[in-house]
Amino acid sequence: MKTKIQYLLDEIESEYRYTGGMTGKHTLDPKVKAALTNVPRDKFVPRSHIDSAFYNGPLPIGHGQTISQPYIVAIMTDLLELEAGDVVLEIGTGSGYQAAILSQLCKQVYTIEYVPELADMSRVRFEKLGYDNIEVKTGNGFDGWPGHAPYDGIIVTAAATHIPEPLIKQLKPGGRMVIPLGKPYLHQELTLVRKNEDGELDISDILGVAFVPFQGERDD
Ligand code: SAH
Repeated sequence: MKTKIQYLLDEIESEYRYTGGMTGKHTLDPKVKAALTNVPRDKFVPRSHIDSAFYNGPLPIGHGQTISQPYIVAIMTDLLELEAGDVVLEIGTGSGYQAAILSQLCKQVYTIEYVPELADMSRVRFEKLGYDNIEVKTGNGFDGWPGHAPYDGIIVTAAATHIPEPLIKQLKPGGRMVIPLGKPYLHQELTLVRKNEDGELDISDILGVAFVPFQGERDD
């Protein structure tokens, strides 16, 4: 008999086939698939939504925020093309689910959350579930986390109007960043930023998405 997670993985794989022309990813990477299988999404959603934990959609997590749709978590993770020794920065910890997925695929995850209650909740959750290669900071992710830079990968899970300059600086040459760019609450374009060995950026639009807004954006 198929389990709930297997049904969800089938849905993600079928969405990959539909969107492969845009994303360049036609099949789910086996390592990302293993991470999605191993991380229990039902432990990251509020009790009130536990029955929808394996549904391929976003869910509310309180404070006006959401845990992202599983397909979006999969494709953003896949686009980072992580290796086992990599160090990753996430902006927007939220429920902690995306960070937990990343933690399976790299050496260390640093994640920043703007809402103190959500940061505290994720910290407790990681401790309880035994994710010991994730560190959470409360604050504005616009500034990144210079103390652990440079990062092999940076993932932003809130909609920004532009790429924060500090995050560009903190991305390692050869590294990748995925970030939704556009109008808050409306349409955004999931954007892949690659920094080459000379520090030049290659920026490409991947897919239309809808994220909650990036708080505390500045112009620099
Ligand atoms: N990655 C999360 C998705 C959470 S939704 C998950 O897997 O559940 C986006 C999150 O980004 C929200 O929790 C929101 O509070 C946070 N956020 C918004 N602006 C931010 C900022 N400037 N710095 C850090 N976090 C921010």
